[in-house]
Amino acid sequence: MSKKRILISGASIAGPTLAYWLTQYGFEVVIVERAPELRLGGQNIDVHGAGRKVVRMMGIEERIREANTGEQGLQFIGQRGEVAASFPKDEALSGTRELEILRGDLVQILYDLTAPSVEYRFADSIQAIDQTSDGVEVAFSSGRTEMFYVVIAADGIGSKTRKLIFGNEAQFKFLGVYMTYLTIARHPSDTKWWRWYTATDSRILMLRPDNHGTTRAMVAFLEDRELYNNRSPADQKAIVKEKLAGAGWEAERISKALDSASDVYLERVGQIHAPNWSKGRVAMVGDAAYCASPLTGKGTTLALVGAYILAGELSRHGRPEDAFTAYEKLLRPFIKNVQKLPPGVPKIVYPSSRLGVSVLNTLAGVVASKPVQAIVGLFSSKGAEAEEKDISLPVY
Ligand SMILES: Cc1cc2nc3c(=O)[nH]c(=O)nc-3n(C[C@H](O)[C@H](O)[C@H](O)COP(=O)(O)OP(=O)(O)OC[C@H]3O[C@@H](n4cnc5c(N)ncnc54)[C@H](O)[C@@H]3O)c2cc1C
Repeated sequence: MSKKRILISGASIAGPTLAYWLTQYGFEVVIVERAPELRLGGQNIDVHGAGRKVVRMMGIEERIREANTGEQGLQFIGQRGEVAASFPKDEALSGTRELEILRGDLVQILYDLTAPSVEYRFADSIQAIDQTSDGVEVAFSSGRTEMFYVVIAADGIGSKTRKLIFGNEAQFKFLGVYMTYLTIARHPSDTKWWRWYTATDSRILMLRPDNHGTTRAMVAFLEDRELYNNRSPADQKAIVKEKLAGAGWEAERISKALDSASDVYLERVGQIHAPNWSKGRVAMVGDAAYCASPLTGKGTTLALVGAYILAGELSRHGRPEDAFTAYEKLLRPFIKNVQKLPPGVPKIVYPSSRLGVSVLNTLAGVVASKPVQAIVGLFSSKGAEAEEKDISLPVY
């Protein structure tokens, strides 16, 4: 190997960000993605704090701003469909940030940025990994076998590469919530606000505007046990329809939209806790290593920051093992902090009874109330407190 070749598994947020920085430092990068093309699904995500600094350094902050979803802020909707409380964008307590973007749009921006300098291989994946003293031999499902300087798993919460290397060492911690995402037709009554409706029986419905002429719907519900994993698309629709029954507000509309929706995605919400992020010449980044869950609102930030630091350390150290140790030492305290959920979350924001819902909606206008603090604590930039939770980025 003349130039050091690095293989990354996964072409979403962490993989292409890592690839960008690695090519800046002179590495040759191959990204293998299991899907036949970029996966552009998903809903609103935001780029803030240290994540924003990373995209600024990559020169794509303006492109992200241009792809803004146009959301004006967060509103809690009461039982009669009335607005119970509003938190306009950019106020310290709003869930809407300056750089709100659809996940798919960010994936596309990262791909466009890196495609000229990175070799992307779609519809392929790592089948086996064999580490030698001076490289990693990778067998692909397509049948080819190649040597790489190091291999990085950026293949998400269910990372197969993680399982190949670490077996069952990493723990998936179920947080007792299922979330469903789908895109629905925009209705004239839809607004530019992120509308949050709490129903009885621990259910939450959300509608959010996008910049593609459609509306993004989310249905979440509490569940003590992992009852709905790995279901077929038809089963997922049936489960969500059942959960929507009698929920009120826009439940019937979402239920009808489920019939024809092509992007329904029901996920169990959880975190990845991995005792080690690397073994020899193989390491992990993003959700594969330390998924914090959508409940923290920080998955994208962690993927961007982790990729930046991992690439920087690889550029700094002669031995990949030393780079991985330095990466983990720098990042782990930040991850530990982010994975800590505020007390009572998620249960506090999912009341089960009508009285509980009514109390929550009454409290929605009271910013100091516990449920509102819990929600904004998850999604908003609570000034100094959030900054404390942030990480200062090394300069490489
Ligand atoms: C389709 C999709 C929709 C999402 N929607 C949302 C959302 O609405 N809200 C939200 O907060 N988060 C969403 N996420 C998760 C979010 O992208 C991550 O939490 C975060 O951005 C960290 O990204 P990541 O790159 O580490 O992992 P991910 O974004 O999970 O990306 C992993 C990538 O690896 C690929 N992959 C998986 N297995 C293999 C394999 N064996 N070989 C090769 N490639 C593989 C996947 O296809 C995917 O492209 C979504 C993820 C996906 C894949």
